[in-house]
Amino acid sequence: MSSPPSKKQKMSASTEIKYTQIFINNEWCNSVSGKTFTNINPSTGEKVCEVQEGDKADVDKAVKAAKEAFRWNSPWRKLDASERGRLLNKLADLIERDREYLARLETLDNGKPYKDSYNIDLDLTLKCYRYYAGWADKIHGKTIPVDGPYMSMTRLEPVGVCGQIIPWNFPLLMQAWKLGPALCAGNVVVLKPAEQTPLTALYVGSLIKEAGFPPGVVNVVPGYGPTAGAAISGHPDVDKVAFTGSTEVGHLIQQAAGATNLKRITLELGGKSPNVIFADADLDTAVEMSHFALFFNQGQCCCAGSRTFVEESIYDEFVRRSVERAKKRKVGDPFDDQNEQGAQVDQEQFDKIMDLIESGKKEGANLQCGGKRSGDKGFFIEPTVFSDVQDDMRIAQEEIFGPVMQIMKFKDVDELIERANKTIYGLAASVFTASIDKAMTVAHGIRAGTVWVNCYDVLQAQVPFGGFKQSGNGRELGEYGLQQYSEVKTITIKIPEKNS
Ligand code: ADP
Repeated sequence: MSSPPSKKQKMSASTEIKYTQIFINNEWCNSVSGKTFTNINPSTGEKVCEVQEGDKADVDKAVKAAKEAFRWNSPWRKLDASERGRLLNKLADLIERDREYLARLETLDNGKPYKDSYNIDLDLTLKCYRYYAGWADKIHGKTIPVDGPYMSMTRLEPVGVCGQIIPWNFPLLMQAWKLGPALCAGNVVVLKPAEQTPLTALYVGSLIKEAGFPPGVVNVVPGYGPTAGAAISGHPDVDKVAFTGSTEVGHLIQQAAGATNLKRITLELGGKSPNVIFADADLDTAVEMSHFALFFNQGQCCCAGSRTFVEESIYDEFVRRSVERAKKRKVGDPFDDQNEQGAQVDQEQFDKIMDLIESGKKEGANLQCGGKRSGDKGFFIEPTVFSDVQDDMRIAQEEIFGPVMQIMKFKDVDELIERANKTIYGLAASVFTASIDKAMTVAHGIRAGTVWVNCYDVLQAQVPFGGFKQSGNGRELGEYGLQQYSEVKTITIKIPEKNS
């Protein structure tokens, strides 16, 4: 990991916005409707720029370009697989070249601390592109013995035109999770960034062109969900949609696929992940990791450890230390390296979080600290901790997506597993304990796509990520993620029985 430039350098460098148009066929264009939408800086609530607002007509243009790029014998289809890997590596090199600029743009657009954008988001983004670059020429099928005078083999072929709809919490990283596997497997893409954070996705569009990807292989259409997003999920020429966002919208995407062309769907949705602390855990580690599990990225993580279950005998001490830690958390200007927590992404999220905090108070949870706006501009919220949370309270059931920690008590493992599973979600879970038996019992018992033991948020390109139940459908990352961007084709050849 390289170190970010000094604070002084950063502050003196202004963040120029270079791309605000729609990216189709390696060209920049205005929206067909002529409409734009306003991009807001979450740290100030002030306008940054106007961005071209894509809608159905723009999505149609982008899908047409992608289809043309996927045509039989097109430059992209004829490209050697190893060349696809080289292009992805080139893209990663260009992102690394512009790392500081991209980190600044991400922080300006999203409100997350600059040091996190630079160190965490950019690091994982680069690793994801490079991981999938390595896969490009290693995607192969099998030869299968069959009955009779035949020989069968499978090929893994690209799915085709992939619509990719991404969220605002990790704009660059979610783009990498989508583009990396899609491109290495030979697909073409129409990507819609979230309306709150389109800027880095558009800049990466310029790097796609610079890297040398043929026109139409990647198209980026900024716009709103119910218009541009719905145009993608309902498009008859889109072969697959990969979506990351709310469970509510996940339902709509799946319905749109069913109502149109049965396009393939992968969904990475919400969560209410249990984080389990046994009395034999190292308490310092458990407190710090539970804090990180919830508060990282302003609490805006689909896999946030948002239900902290603590064994009865250490409950009071755990609450005391967690509150002490939350009170120390520094909130404010994300470009100031002293701050651990920046702004929530927009007014709508800010209001939703404040409403859930109010519901926690009304329903009788014990507000230990926080609960209010921080500062007098932008969308900052004090680190908030509730204890004595009951399973049926809204704050224990609904995804808050903010810096609000829920701590609840448990007595024994079976009771714990039953309670941990009592939610519509199943994205992630974690367990802190010194006992391998307890760790494995919880890891097997909780219905979630990922279980971390004595750690949290270890998300790496090599391992699959995704949800059980209403947390999603399919997996991203790793070899499993690649399968979701490939169709299996069987070719069976008759072997002549007699050679004349
Ligand atoms: P959040 O509530 O956290 O903003 P959303 O699920 O609304 O999460 O948004 C995630 C992504 O889904 C964004 O790119 C958004 O524009 C898009 N989106 C929202 N509504 C729809 C929809 N009806 N169809 C397709 N995409 C949508």
